[in-house]
Amino acid sequence: MISPMSKAYKVTSAYSWRDLYGSGVKDDFHNGIDLVPQDGKHPCDLFAADDGTVTDVRSNVPDSHTGLKVTTMVTGNYVNIRTKEGYTLIYRHLKANSVAVKLGQQVKAGELIGVMGSTGQSSGAHLHYEIRNPQYQSINPAPYIGNDVPLPGSSVSTPLPVHYDVRVNAGTTLNVRSGAGTGFPKVTELKNSPTLTIVEESDGAGAKLWGKLADGRGWVALDYTTRVAAAQVRVGSRVRVNRGAKTYTGGGVAAWVYDRTYTVDSLTGDRAVLDSRGLCTPFNVKELALV
Ligand SMILES: [Zn+2]
Repeated sequence: MISPMSKAYKVTSAYSWRDLYGSGVKDDFHNGIDLVPQDGKHPCDLFAADDGTVTDVRSNVPDSHTGLKVTTMVTGNYVNIRTKEGYTLIYRHLKANSVAVKLGQQVKAGELIGVMGSTGQSSGAHLHYEIRNPQYQSINPAPYIGNDVPLPGSSVSTPLPVHYDVRVNAGTTLNVRSGAGTGFPKVTELKNSPTLTIVEESDGAGAKLWGKLADGRGWVALDYTTRVAAAQVRVGSRVRVNRGAKTYTGGGVAAWVYDRTYTVDSLTGDRAVLDSRGLCTPFNVKELALV
């Protein structure tokens, strides 16, 4: 793929664990790469690194909404592009009023998508660039920036571990497939509302979310199941945020939220506050899975 940057760049933060808040502990997994212009000069245009479709975009964050302590709209202005192979290219922190593409728009590699900025949780103008595989798991973008090497196949993806039980909805016959998506062959079907243990989640065709069965038989569309008993989340529990979760303020949940574990700092009714340093918006305990 071509570079997302219109000029030579340097990396200011790699795809790795890091000490974002200066606590002395590398406790923040940076699932993208931060790039700045090598010459330090702005503005710096950003390009679509590959052909694709704009699948998500935000352009209403003002340049004044910036800084490491920002806890809302942390990604700032962003553009997500889905390639025809199903990879998602994510550009964050774009300058206010610079986003040059619209939701659903087809873009070509090299097309202008916006200008580097510092909106959201950012300590200075840079591009946070992510590549997500077809299961929407992040991969290290570094080897692919401006290099004509193929992206890794989905078989090398890192699973997103979860552990919870669901029951197949009454009256539903649910197909078990060999992969996450209706494009994968059917292995068997499930009837009579069995309880299933799910150990991995993934995006996939034909359903909002797919779950991998602990017994190894395959994957099921979780849309046709109901979770059995909410997790016993307590203060101090280590949890993950379920895919598709919504915060109480009704906002979306940034993709990076799903890739890590959190400690529950406080509980009020069914509202759980996770590591207050990173996530200030409470989640419903039903949206959390114990790890
Ligand atoms: Zn970053």
